[in-house]
Amino acid sequence: MEDTMDKKVHEIYCNSCGKKIETTDNIKREDYLSIKKEWGYFSKKDGEIHSIFLCESCYDIWTKQFKLPVKVEKQTELL
Ligand SMILES: [Zn+2]
Repeated sequence: MEDTMDKKVHEIYCNSCGKKIETTDNIKREDYLSIKKEWGYFSKKDGEIHSIFLCESCYDIWTKQFKLPVKVEKQTELL
């Protein structure tokens, strides 16, 4: 039984494929895309807040459909 414990787990599911992205298990944690959009007056969704989560593989599939490529910049890492 998994739901016997009252655990505060922050679970995120990929909107596209439905798989669980983030768990409390730090070892298995993976990066993912998180979009939060507050639609404004000039949209047909005025006042609605939409949230989307995508796992990395679904992000790759999604962005490959774009006419223009995703802008990619390298993070400057402090070594
Ligand atoms: Zn996915």
